[in-house]
Amino acid sequence: MTLRRRTFDTVVVGAGGGGLRAALQLANENVRVAVVSKVFPTRSHTVAAQGGINAALGNVMDDDWRWHMYDTIKGSDWLGDQDAIEYMCRSAYKLVTELEHAGVPFSRLENGTIYQRPFGGQSQNYGGAQAARTCAAADRTGHAILHSLYQQNLAAQTHFFDEYFALDLLRDEEGRVVGLLALEIATGEPLLLDAKTVLLATGGAGQIFKTTTNAMINTGDGMAMVLRAGIPLQDMEFFQFHPTGIAGKGMLLSEGARGEGGYLINGEGERFMERYAPNAKDLASRDVVSRAIFLEVEAGRGCGINKDHVLLKVDHLGEEVVKKRLPAIRDLALTFAHLDMAREPIPVYPTAHYTMGGIPTNRFGEVLGQDGRMDLPVQGLFAVGECACVSVHGANRLGGNSLLDIVVFGRAAGNRILQYHRDHKHRLTIPEGAISHAMERLNRWTRYGEGESTALLRDELKEVMERYCGVYRTEEMLQDGMEKVRELRKRVESVVVQDQSKVFNTALIEALELENLADIALATVVSALARKESRGAHSRIDYPERDDDKWMVHTLFSLGDSELDYKPVNMEPLTEPSIPPKARVY
Ligand SMILES: Cc1cc2nc3c(=O)[nH]c(=O)nc-3n(C[C@H](O)[C@H](O)[C@H](O)COP(=O)(O)OP(=O)(O)OC[C@H]3O[C@@H](n4cnc5c(N)ncnc54)[C@H](O)[C@@H]3O)c2cc1C
Repeated sequence: MTLRRRTFDTVVVGAGGGGLRAALQLANENVRVAVVSKVFPTRSHTVAAQGGINAALGNVMDDDWRWHMYDTIKGSDWLGDQDAIEYMCRSAYKLVTELEHAGVPFSRLENGTIYQRPFGGQSQNYGGAQAARTCAAADRTGHAILHSLYQQNLAAQTHFFDEYFALDLLRDEEGRVVGLLALEIATGEPLLLDAKTVLLATGGAGQIFKTTTNAMINTGDGMAMVLRAGIPLQDMEFFQFHPTGIAGKGMLLSEGARGEGGYLINGEGERFMERYAPNAKDLASRDVVSRAIFLEVEAGRGCGINKDHVLLKVDHLGEEVVKKRLPAIRDLALTFAHLDMAREPIPVYPTAHYTMGGIPTNRFGEVLGQDGRMDLPVQGLFAVGECACVSVHGANRLGGNSLLDIVVFGRAAGNRILQYHRDHKHRLTIPEGAISHAMERLNRWTRYGEGESTALLRDELKEVMERYCGVYRTEEMLQDGMEKVRELRKRVESVVVQDQSKVFNTALIEALELENLADIALATVVSALARKESRGAHSRIDYPERDDDKWMVHTLFSLGDSELDYKPVNMEPLTEPSIPPKARVY
């Protein structure tokens, strides 16, 4: 069979907010840009974002991007890079205004300006009173943003490869990225994409955990592609557990519920967050609230027959507010908990939510790690959004900062790619060796018959990660977890795709995703075992304190013999004074 081949200037992998914002920047400049997505673009996980996007517009109360910057650095537990954080918070006003002009139907205040709600970890005046910084389109903000960006891309004539699965990056002898191998899901036919630049915007990897808010498609494919290409992943031990997933199911009930005045109660009817975060209470940072729920349940103060969850209460806000501000999550609670939030409290428990770590980049979206050097960008390769680690979220992301991250850095990467094309006018050749190497991996997977089952192995992996690498961690748990993940990863090699009918090739895609999940799970548990301190979302019972002397560094994980390395955190903002570490209390 001859390999189908198409040529573009830029190939963007991922049609979420990050990929589409970058593609738009390029298409508007007449770059030949193709977007590859394994699902129809508007089914990307960005569509599920509920609560909103942060920008210090000051529509509801006084605000300043510098306060936003301070909150983000504090939220990151001082692991975020301060140059990137300044850049993001400073650009927020511009990007949100641009979304407004692109047609995002934001909710409005009486005076016609964008509605903003309070979210966790937000303050006025560098740690003072609660701020209201999250711009919302009711509780369907991601839906509104993604649809607007998709429509703008159609108008700009971006080329879409919908339901194509990206397999591997293609690099030349000098390590430059020159293209991508993908697979048309419906036919199972491979497609070679020849490109001057490749941008990864493949989203997070929440599917490594059993209970998660993430869509089934969030399997960390882009991150795994990067690992296979010999580039490390950064800070993978930091995974955010959102405090309010529907108990036992995992679907998200947005922080917006607490932002609107909702609160948590334990089995004794107590507002327990007052004990853990006397000032911010229910709007403390997510890691803080998740740990508090976990501890309440452990102490026997949970709710329900099994005392295994707490309750989220919004019914006191009245039906009108719930219907107007939280309509989608009310529907979610009705469907999955069979309860009406406007009338009764909902059982909640922490659920895996956001991948803080990812592909190491600088604030221009350039992927770092050419020739193993973290100060050198890999030529031709870019990454943005949840798959990337800039790092603006450090050890813990603030709610509302991810939608901001994807549009800010989507635009930045678009601009840098334009620059790259100006500096590199000539197209490079894809070496035959790189193509056959990627094809061999695909062919290894297209084996059908009897063997280990993808579905069972995937369930086992998710169970192991949840048990051994969850909200609280110890040396012993992580050691056991790591051994189990290594074993499972070996077994993945003997998986046989069992669906011989090849209907839409779903069985093949699931097997490819499982291989990616296993690599990401290994990166997560190995990095977590090594970090002997507690910082942000990484909570070690055996090392309860943050250790700035030893651990104010980014973790780098690679596949191969020497798995771990570290690099310093950038403490130098672009124009503002540096914000030095201090105790993180809410
Ligand atoms: C339920 C939920 C609610 C959230 N609410 C908020 C919120 O209110 N505010 C906020 O700031 N953040 C929120 N977040 C986080 C935020 O939505 C995400 O981090 C962000 O939208 C990710 O965007 P992205 O562009 O990086 O990737 P995604 O939107 O996840 O898109 C990934 C894209 O990559 C494609 N892809 C992946 N692998 C492949 C492959 N192998 N081949 C081809 N294509 C591939 C997919 O098809 C998809 O198009 C929420 C997240 C969840 C799960």
